[in-house]
Amino acid sequence: MTASIGVVQKQRGRVLAGDLLRRADIAIYRAKVEGKARYVVFEEGMDTQALRRLDLENDLRRAIEAQEFVVHYQPQVTLESGDLTGLEALVRWEHPEKGLIHPIDFIPIAEDIGAVRELGLWVLEEACRQAMSWDSEGVLEQATVLSVNISPRQLDDPQIVARVAAALARTGFPANRLALEITESVLLSESRTIADKIAALRSLGIRIAIDDFGTGYASLTYLTRIPVDFLKIDQRFVSGLERDDESKSIVLALVNLSRWLEIEVIAEGVESRAQLSHLLALGCRQGQGFLFAKPLSADDARVYLENARKQLVA
Ligand code: C2E
Ligand code: MG
Ligand code: MG
Repeated sequence: MTASIGVVQKQRGRVLAGDLLRRADIAIYRAKVEGKARYVVFEEGMDTQALRRLDLENDLRRAIEAQEFVVHYQPQVTLESGDLTGLEALVRWEHPEKGLIHPIDFIPIAEDIGAVRELGLWVLEEACRQAMSWDSEGVLEQATVLSVNISPRQLDDPQIVARVAAALARTGFPANRLALEITESVLLSESRTIADKIAALRSLGIRIAIDDFGTGYASLTYLTRIPVDFLKIDQRFVSGLERDDESKSIVLALVNLSRWLEIEVIAEGVESRAQLSHLLALGCRQGQGFLFAKPLSADDARVYLENARKQLVA
């Protein structure tokens, strides 16, 4: 058992008991947000931050109710030719006043308030529905893999496999064209149930990608315990290719490792020609990044797909 502790220092003058407790509460809350099993001492200003956070939480609950989210799509390509191999679905919050908000600013909050399961399933179903509609218009190649990010909190859901299967059934999207991206931390849990869920998803035909590979932990043993299909090399190693030799060694090691394990490698965040030529020299075959295309709105992605098809035919 662990505890989160909020501390309020004794103040001069008279303080109302209610205020004291409220400050302790804010400090406890902060301790929980920072990862639990710790103490936090209340400081002036924490209450306004806490209020802002509370505002954001309420705003997010409202947005989920009002369905203010959209999915953008980033092409994944063969590095050598630039040919499309996949599309990654990336959620955005279309805030009525603040404009487009990126996931980094609201997914962690959705995780904390227990809203990420609902949101994540919505993204999955929306992306599948969109892909089916491109399919019926004839702009999407059958071989194009649709990748959807899954939060660790979603994998905690005992019903996750059934829910994913239901989303596929409702949209008609074939399981073998879907990849789910999970982060390394999920695989590190020794829990049998996680391994079982991943195995169950894979037996549906769904492929599993490890996102941001190399940022989490040094232990690679889980790769032998839990089979996966793709490793996504984190952006930091790709951008490091132009600066240091360590990044080169790491990318090379990952490319070789995945060859042995028969896992496909995808380089994330490829921004420059120099990075591209390093990746090719190191034997990396697939990638995504601003050099090829930014994440595109559904309308822009459609235009991209049409052009990609025309090039393929020509
Ligand atoms: P990710 O899955 O690693 O997605 C890649 C992120 O890198 C995206 O940021 C993308 O816009 C950005 N990116 C792509 N190419 C480049 C590049 O060349 N240079 C740079 N600097 N950045 C590039 P985005 O869309 O802001 O998403 C951030 C993270 O939020 C994602 O990282 C993913 O972990 C999470 N996320 C996005 N959508 C969802 C979702 O539907 N569910 C969950 N649970 N998480 C999501
Ligand atoms: Mg991803
Ligand atoms: Mg990533």
